[in-house]
Amino acid sequence: MEKNEKHNKKKNENIKTIILSVLLLIVIVLGGFAYYLMNQKQEDEKELAYTELIQNINEDKVEKIKMKTGSYSVIVTLKGEGEEEDRQKTVLVPSIQAFMEWINEKVDKEGKDIELIEENVNPILKIVDTLFSLLPTILLVVLMIMFFKMQGIGGDQGKVYGGEDGSKQSDVRFEDIAGLDEEKDELIEIVDFLKTPKAYLDMGAKIPRGILLYGKPGTGKTLIAKAIAGEAGVPFISMSGSEFIEMFAGLGASRVRRLFERAKKISPCIVFIDEIDAIGSRRTSNSGAETENNQTLNQLLVEMDGFETNETVIVLAATNRPEMLDKALLRPGRFDRQITIPAPDLNGREAILKLHGKNKKIAADVDFKSIAGDTAGFTGAELANILNEAAIIGTRNKHTEITNEDIESAVKKITVGLEKTNRVISEKDKKLTAYHEAGHAVVSKFLPTQTDVKEVSIIPRGVAGGYTMYKTTEDKYYVSRTELLEKMVALMGGRAAEKIALNEISTGASNDIEVATGIARDMLTVYGMDDSLGPISLKVDDPYELQIFGDKVIDKVGNQIQVLIDSAYETAQKILLDNMDILDKVANKLIEQEKITSEEFEEFFK
Ligand code: ATP
Repeated sequence: MEKNEKHNKKKNENIKTIILSVLLLIVIVLGGFAYYLMNQKQEDEKELAYTELIQNINEDKVEKIKMKTGSYSVIVTLKGEGEEEDRQKTVLVPSIQAFMEWINEKVDKEGKDIELIEENVNPILKIVDTLFSLLPTILLVVLMIMFFKMQGIGGDQGKVYGGEDGSKQSDVRFEDIAGLDEEKDELIEIVDFLKTPKAYLDMGAKIPRGILLYGKPGTGKTLIAKAIAGEAGVPFISMSGSEFIEMFAGLGASRVRRLFERAKKISPCIVFIDEIDAIGSRRTSNSGAETENNQTLNQLLVEMDGFETNETVIVLAATNRPEMLDKALLRPGRFDRQITIPAPDLNGREAILKLHGKNKKIAADVDFKSIAGDTAGFTGAELANILNEAAIIGTRNKHTEITNEDIESAVKKITVGLEKTNRVISEKDKKLTAYHEAGHAVVSKFLPTQTDVKEVSIIPRGVAGGYTMYKTTEDKYYVSRTELLEKMVALMGGRAAEKIALNEISTGASNDIEVATGIARDMLTVYGMDDSLGPISLKVDDPYELQIFGDKVIDKVGNQIQVLIDSAYETAQKILLDNMDILDKVANKLIEQEKITSEEFEEFFK
């Protein structure tokens, strides 16, 4: 997550520089144009045609002619009254040499009364003049260099840790990764390959080339790549797939080439390509940006095939969208090993919390096992973040150690957002929120598959006006149809309560509706859970592919989503109508004390 932020920041900076450069260019062009127009106007009045000059000389109307060798024009002073400057005109002459000879003859031989001033141009002034005329070109070149630099021509070919040109060795070890024991076991082999490649080569074994790590952001993929490099004591070059994506055709491919050139130079080493889906997504036949993407991917395939047997470069790549990857990437000799990095399970979460708690002051009564129980589905990065937030909250609360309460606040802050106790809320809104949240809580109490309520609150947090928090159960790999249907009913509980108790509905239910609709859609199109449609998957990359199912099927999906949502809403409404007294009691308690604990909530059902 942190990396994405960094990348976005870099991208924003690049966009800023591009905008600034374009603005600068516009200012220069406009300024130059205005300057040209102003000069042009003045010059028009002060210019004389060559033929007019000849005529004026013949008619004895010329007083003085100033000429410069190497110039294309002369300054002529016409006879007459007034300041000399006002009588001066510039005349462009076709050949200064020929004109000088001609006019000298006129004066010397024909005795014309014209004062001739001949000047040789000062060489220094000439250089300054030339420089001035080159200024726009110089500016343009500077801008182009800035632009190309941003585009990465000659830019950095990945960050290196360790090796001759690297700043420092990766100091991450396997012991810095908590959980993921099976995954680590699988990777220990790679460390050995890197440490003693000769032993494997002598035995006739082929060194694995590429390992693909699949997993959600923050599950520790980068950490694993660094740990392999750290354990093997080899340099680690890291680059993100999105850094290869370039505006100019061919640049992405050349970056790939240079990355691998560098890797071969410092081999044995690890190359880590994060977000490989940015370059490795399926090749298409389209033009423009996609052709560029195809070229980059092709280059990567070429590089992966092009290793000599004695070059121990192992490429690790990470993605959270494996389905996007071009199949060619997964062929033998390329990324033929794939390891899934799952979100940690209960024990894994406890281990990660303990690991990240080591360098923090944690109160003795903090129970990591129970926190792990409350954070099903959290990734390693999120857990690390929770402890960090808890440390900040603890410090702000002037605690000497991080308490259970600090950690709970941190979990809520990360899941629902920051509590906004200072926000002034109207009585009307408070009542609406109270009934909405009470609706969720009461309805879920009557749904066997739904977990118990942990806390209900009408204190705004993040963007939510209130929230109902449920206890988490242990991680589940499968979710049943009944569970999904009941989840939709619980979600509809908020809107149903508003309608029943206040005969009014509000925008507060928008997120519930979005989530419920998503569940209904997935039930029909992904999980094949609808009887009338049967177990078919309507998951397609391109909406065009849906045509093979025909309009009837598509219409049915739309209708069935409606049926599922309507039925969930009706069930929620029925539960609430049957338990109006409890709904009122819970809502009133919420209005009175803003927050209800799990024990207080259970009291209403005794
Ligand atoms: P992304 O896909 O966003 O790049 P990632 O899967 O590469 O994410 P990392 O950058 O490796 O995730 O993890 C981020 C941070 O989360 C790590 O620096 C570490 O502090 C913590 N972390 C994640 N998983 C673990 C783990 N299993 N043990 C210890 N710390 C972990």
